[in-house]
Amino acid sequence: SDHALSYPAAPDQFDWSAHYPAFAGSGKTPEYADIGCGFGGLLVALAPLFPDKLVLGMEIRVQVTQYVRDRIIALRATSAPEQPAPAPAPYQNVSVVRANSMKFTPNYFPKASLSALFFLFPDPHFKARKHKARIISPTLLAEYAYVLRPGGIVYTITDVRDLHDWMNSHLAAFPLFEPVSEDDLRAEGKGPIVDAVYSSTEEGKKVERNSGHKWLACFRRIDVPRV
Ligand code: SAM
Repeated sequence: SDHALSYPAAPDQFDWSAHYPAFAGSGKTPEYADIGCGFGGLLVALAPLFPDKLVLGMEIRVQVTQYVRDRIIALRATSAPEQPAPAPAPYQNVSVVRANSMKFTPNYFPKASLSALFFLFPDPHFKARKHKARIISPTLLAEYAYVLRPGGIVYTITDVRDLHDWMNSHLAAFPLFEPVSEDDLRAEGKGPIVDAVYSSTEEGKKVERNSGHKWLACFRRIDVPRV
């Protein structure tokens, strides 16, 4: 349950410098958030793509979160330059929190602070009575819209057709999101992000090994609600 979870009462009460010591005092908060990050493959892929932006994973499982934490510590240690460079050292910009994202997303991220939110191969919760456990729902979409800045992108991908249809239809019905095609994202220079969405995560690699199909659905947070 959530009793054992500590979480900030509000984003401005969270000490990001403990997560990103190299950025302490910069006033930066995460811009890329991976919801249900699992073993952290996307985080590790994104970090070097955006060395001056903060990347955060949220994961509910204790051991998995610890695994990602250890993975990041090891990457920081082995990639640290001999001489301090003017640019931040590699992987200083990536971290993970153990959190139930279905309850506490707005506790971590200030309004309009995120450029991207990722939902990669989320748990499908097949049975109808379990659909309320899905990580995309009308209530949660309002929270995701709140933390995303206008122009920000929601990336979803799954190998489960029914879940794809679910995420796609809920996002399409929400007035603050509009669909954006993979081609448009690539034309905007977001190709490396899309590539990471397809194949950087442990679950994505598993689907590849099993020759499964991957369904991508991406949406842009718009400024003025659609009528
Ligand atoms: N995104 C990763 C990938 O592509 O490899 C992991 C996919 S895995 C099927 C789903 C992950 O979401 C699991 O690690 C699970 O513990 C996590 N998760 C499920 N519900 C969550 C919640 N409410 N808050 C945070 N993480 C959650």
